[in-house]
Amino acid sequence: MRSSQLLIPTLRETPADAEVASHILLVRGGFIRRLTTGAYTWLPLGLRVLKRIEAIVREELARAGAQEVLMPVVQPAELWRESGRWDTMGPEMLRFTDRHDREYCLSPTQEEVVTDLFRRVVTSYRHLPCNLYHIQTKFRDEIRPRFGLMRAREFLMKDGYSFHLDDASFEAAYAAMHDCYSAILRRLGLDFRAVDADPGAMGDGDSHEFHVLAGSGEDTIAFSPASDYAANLEKAEAPALADDHPVQPMQTVPTPGMKTIADVSAHLRLPASRCVKTLIVHAETDEEAPALAALIVRGDHELNEAKAARLAGIRRPLTFATDAEIEAAVGASPGSLGPVGLSLPIIADRTAAAMTSFVCGANEDDKHHVGVNWERDVGSVQAADIREVLPGDMAADGSGPLSFRRGIEVGHIFKLGDKYTRSMDVSVQDRDGRAVTPIMGCYGFGVSRTVAAVVEQCHDERGIVWPTSIAPFTTHIVALTGRKSTAVEAAASRLYEELTAAGVDVLLDDRDERPGVKFADADLIGIPHRITVGERGLKTGIVEYARRDGSETRELSLEEAAAYLTRAVTQPANP
Ligand code: ATP
Ligand code: MG
Repeated sequence: MRSSQLLIPTLRETPADAEVASHILLVRGGFIRRLTTGAYTWLPLGLRVLKRIEAIVREELARAGAQEVLMPVVQPAELWRESGRWDTMGPEMLRFTDRHDREYCLSPTQEEVVTDLFRRVVTSYRHLPCNLYHIQTKFRDEIRPRFGLMRAREFLMKDGYSFHLDDASFEAAYAAMHDCYSAILRRLGLDFRAVDADPGAMGDGDSHEFHVLAGSGEDTIAFSPASDYAANLEKAEAPALADDHPVQPMQTVPTPGMKTIADVSAHLRLPASRCVKTLIVHAETDEEAPALAALIVRGDHELNEAKAARLAGIRRPLTFATDAEIEAAVGASPGSLGPVGLSLPIIADRTAAAMTSFVCGANEDDKHHVGVNWERDVGSVQAADIREVLPGDMAADGSGPLSFRRGIEVGHIFKLGDKYTRSMDVSVQDRDGRAVTPIMGCYGFGVSRTVAAVVEQCHDERGIVWPTSIAPFTTHIVALTGRKSTAVEAAASRLYEELTAAGVDVLLDDRDERPGVKFADADLIGIPHRITVGERGLKTGIVEYARRDGSETRELSLEEAAAYLTRAVTQPANP
């Protein structure tokens, strides 16, 4: 295509609301424009990239045996009431009523709708396993939409759902989707990690996230450089650290006005790692009266709320007791709490539970205990992994110390079990005519977020550097038509025709602009292969070839240029 016929509104300035490279460059390069908070219009260049990613996703899903459908964005409340999620989904779900006062939501995800479809159309084992997906708009009223396409409110997701008669069939599909997501991300030329993840509100089973590694990522991934172990912080197992301090007698010491671990450890001249923190949370109970529980971590460790929320007996999501609730239950303020004599259920992090002769609040303001030992002073305590892992902690597979990297979650696969098929009364007949409740998997892939993730990994100070597999065009002919050189125009047009005829996707910059503007725009837009046609070169029949990633620049004769380019763009390896 010719630039003169394409809407590519490039900008020199950084948009005021853009903080990360992908947001800045996609707006400046004329790929997207903001409509309102968290909602973007795809301009011609951006849409081409989006469609290329969709095409790769479709190809790989077809290979993995998934079938494409297209389900509505507007969903009736009744289905969400059947699954029980109408009341549990938070304000992220946008709800509204129609002219008949019937309630609806905009699809944040599609479990209910696909399960309803399945129960209407599939009744027999003959149709199982069944793996359906669509690529459709999602709306989530995110509390903090930001980073452009990365955390939008309206975004494009590929979401897939599979139904199975038994675990073996499900496990095979889950493994196939795991491989499929890896294949997609490899084709996009991305540096990524598949990580063990917390399924959150989606289910109780296994789940894996696919993260594109980038400093601007919102998530932290703990991984072992020595193996393929990787997990997000909600899931990464923290080791129990040993403590060999000698057993000392317990003493009570005055700590006037000291409410924090920092205050107490400074006062006692002991490191924070000799103290424990006691946090009071709401327990899960059938009774009317609110029940509380105590969670204990080492003074220099942090509680991991997702891990704590997974414990039996703890309310999910985790909520902390108010100061008043703590006063009423313990008789002391939050900075003076400890396990000694505490009449609440106590769960200690495994490292805290292995400590000897530690410091804790005395459940009396202005007093702490020192030399506390679990068995002797508290009694046996329930130990669980409830702390955040730290870099340097031994990886759960024992392969070596953990490192941390930031990641952008682009995909998430879950084991749903029968959560939806049971609550929505789905059954199919197995081979022997028995009614079976199928089990489900669900597989999300953020198509629009991936556009941003690619730019986060593939850019330099001048602009985007698209991998050839998803570039809006593979080749950019920059015609330096200054002073209306008809020779340049003719040569560039001829090359454009030749390449187009050879099946190469070419953008011809035929605008009446200065060379500096054209080069700056070409760098910004980031098309991987560039041919510059200028008057000076043409005098000796030469054009200039350059790869946007800087890996190659050379002069080519006008005659050989088309053949050279055709070979270059079809080389399998991405820059
Ligand atoms: P996050 O933790 O980033 O909010 P999520 O766990 O809520 O993601 P899923 O419900 O698993 O996300 O959705 C599947 C995929 O959809 C995600 O892996 C991500 O790529 C994409 N996605 C989710 N929320 C957004 C958003 N607000 N903007 C763009 N893409 C999103
Ligand atoms: Mg989310």
